[in-house]
Amino acid sequence: MPQQKPKILLERIALIGIGLIGSSIARAVKRGGLTAHISVTARSQESLDKAIELGIADSVTLDKVDAVKEADLVIICSPIGAYRPIIETIAPSLKPGAIVSDVGSVKQAVIRDLAPHIPKGVHLVPAHPVAGTEHSGPEAGFAELFENRWCIITPPPDTNETAIEQVSQFWQALGANIEIMEPTHHDLVMAMTSHLPHLIAYTIVGTATDLEKSLTNEVIKFSAGGFRDFTRIAASDPTMWRDVFLNNKDAVLEMLQRFSEDITALQRAIRWGEGDILHDLFSRTRDVRRGVIEAKQEKMYD
Ligand code: NAP
Repeated sequence: MPQQKPKILLERIALIGIGLIGSSIARAVKRGGLTAHISVTARSQESLDKAIELGIADSVTLDKVDAVKEADLVIICSPIGAYRPIIETIAPSLKPGAIVSDVGSVKQAVIRDLAPHIPKGVHLVPAHPVAGTEHSGPEAGFAELFENRWCIITPPPDTNETAIEQVSQFWQALGANIEIMEPTHHDLVMAMTSHLPHLIAYTIVGTATDLEKSLTNEVIKFSAGGFRDFTRIAASDPTMWRDVFLNNKDAVLEMLQRFSEDITALQRAIRWGEGDILHDLFSRTRDVRRGVIEAKQEKMYD
């Protein structure tokens, strides 16, 4: 059977940042032959050299303007705290008709930082692939990362429909399912499903390391009891997660408040020996796990 010719979706794509997410996009784009040229920029020459060595970039440069000036689609794949200086640098050189997108885990703050700098005739279509691991850097990526995972697109009001469609098609070609959402709603949902669990994991692992040394050693030795799963999440990139919490403050604090109330209720149930309360909750949470499995979202990276 003759081999099917890959379908080029966009002639030139520029990636700003080539860590876990950027390099996974690059790998999936290369695998699918989705573009004629991927240009990559990052903070360090070391990462750019690695991208060339891995065969996931057609050109690399530390000069962001050089990387984006001919691109049809620019995807910012850096920590959110770096977005503002990045857009200030690249905005004047963006091609008319180009799309600026991103992969940031928070969306209102991203729009706040990017939208005012987007030139007329350039389209801003923010996106968040809900997929990841605790690893970072160009070598951590893999082409399958986005397969059967959600990519949430949060276009600001009046965004060009064709640009939204192009970004949707791009992520579908990477294997993702698309959901269009209001940025405020996105941030609230993610505060519960992603940001709060990370905060809890960071806290538990932090508490364990603050115990007296002999006890900490035992915690690590017997970590298979449950602690181990938290250590995986708590190994996630510190810069990325610092920026997530600083940029989704209100939604995280709201979910944290509810969590604190619920944990106080459990504390009370344990103190007063109210087994039914504990059993009821643990039965309901078991059903949630079944729902996650049925939705095929149980893979060990998120
Ligand atoms: P990462 O592996 O640490 O990679 C970050 C990349 O950004 C690196 O290539 C870094 O360059 C580059 N970078 C940092 N500051 C920069 C700057 N000022 N200018 C240009 N490039 C810069 O991070 P990641 O996990 O891919 O996360 C990237 C984004 O994806 C974050 O916004 C995060 O919210 C979002 N996200 C992450 C996950 C996840 O699970 N990790 C999931 C969904 C979305 P160097 O390599 O040279 O340092």
